[in-house]
Amino acid sequence: MKVTFPHLGNLYVPIKAMLDDLGTDYVVPPFSNKSALELGTKYAPELACLPLKITIGNFIQAYEKGADTIIMVGGCGPCRFGYYYEMQREILHDIGYKMDMIALDIPWGNYKEKVAGIRKLAEGVKKLAGGWNINKILKAAVNTTIISKRMDELESLSFKVRPREKKRGTTNEIMKEFRNKVFSTKGSAGIKKLIEYTEKKLLEVEIDNNYKPLRVGIVGEIYTTIDTGTSLNIQERLGDMGVEVCRPVTISGWIIEHIIKGGLHLPRDLRFAEAAKPYLGAMIGGHAQETIGNSVLFAKDGYDGIIQIYPLTCMPEIVAESILPSIERDYGIPVLTLIIDEMTGEAGYLTRVEAFLDLLEKRRESKAIEGTTVLSGN
Ligand code: SF4
Repeated sequence: MKVTFPHLGNLYVPIKAMLDDLGTDYVVPPFSNKSALELGTKYAPELACLPLKITIGNFIQAYEKGADTIIMVGGCGPCRFGYYYEMQREILHDIGYKMDMIALDIPWGNYKEKVAGIRKLAEGVKKLAGGWNINKILKAAVNTTIISKRMDELESLSFKVRPREKKRGTTNEIMKEFRNKVFSTKGSAGIKKLIEYTEKKLLEVEIDNNYKPLRVGIVGEIYTTIDTGTSLNIQERLGDMGVEVCRPVTISGWIIEHIIKGGLHLPRDLRFAEAAKPYLGAMIGGHAQETIGNSVLFAKDGYDGIIQIYPLTCMPEIVAESILPSIERDYGIPVLTLIIDEMTGEAGYLTRVEAFLDLLEKRRESKAIEGTTVLSGN
């Protein structure tokens, strides 16, 4: 058995560590790229969600490198994500890629459905670990969670350092070095050390302490906001343009809040839901409630602007987009929405981002002038 998994930003790092620790043979698919999207677009239904198309491309590319089994997570609730692995399995079989699917789905539904779900989940874990070595499985699960958290912290640090660095490109170089080294580093212990080393290097970057970057909050559908290749590197590009970004939806947040706390019915961090209440009081699928709630929190925290990113036809984010103008009006914070599909052209996309940044810069300048005028009593 040679397993593979879909790309989602830095998810390959904790998954790689987990598979190394379990001693499972695996293939990391090439990072999501144009040809992965083209493959997925060729075989998936035209109106399928973009993440489904790209991940099908990931699987085909991994199959060509020898993978025969896919690890995929599932979901429940009013969103198409819950059907992804069934659709992916069907599509791949129909086009002749006979790959097994290990679905790590959170048990949900009524009591009977939950018991069946737990059994299915246990079978998947057993297959992946090559037997019931509980100690090994628990250790791998804990380390996977720790590494995903550490990776998100590392990424978040890069979002702060990049816009302030004195020599443009230093942060990108450090993160590139991490990417190159992580493939030759085996197991969670080695990967944790590599993260620590990279963090130290980021903290040593010479920064301009007087520079006050524009601050932009990133909200939207989880896949397109997290996956660098899919969002056309928006977070890195903004950093290179001197803008500090913050993206509250993360992989570790999904694992800890959704899978662990949700699965064990533990109290979750629902500040976003509280903030979203006046605009969207219920969970409608995907991350729409997070989009609304986090936009309110960004506005209250004095951010300069918000960028919402989502794939064409994403129902929850379409609803969120229709609500965002109210937040824009109520809190006076500009919002830019970027919709991604297979036709998205880099030039047009960047032009919109640059125009938005110009607007934010001008607003900041006029606010500063207003402040000076008030202070001088004119
Ligand atoms: S959140 Fe949007 S893109 Fe993701 S599965 Fe649901 S509808 Fe599709």
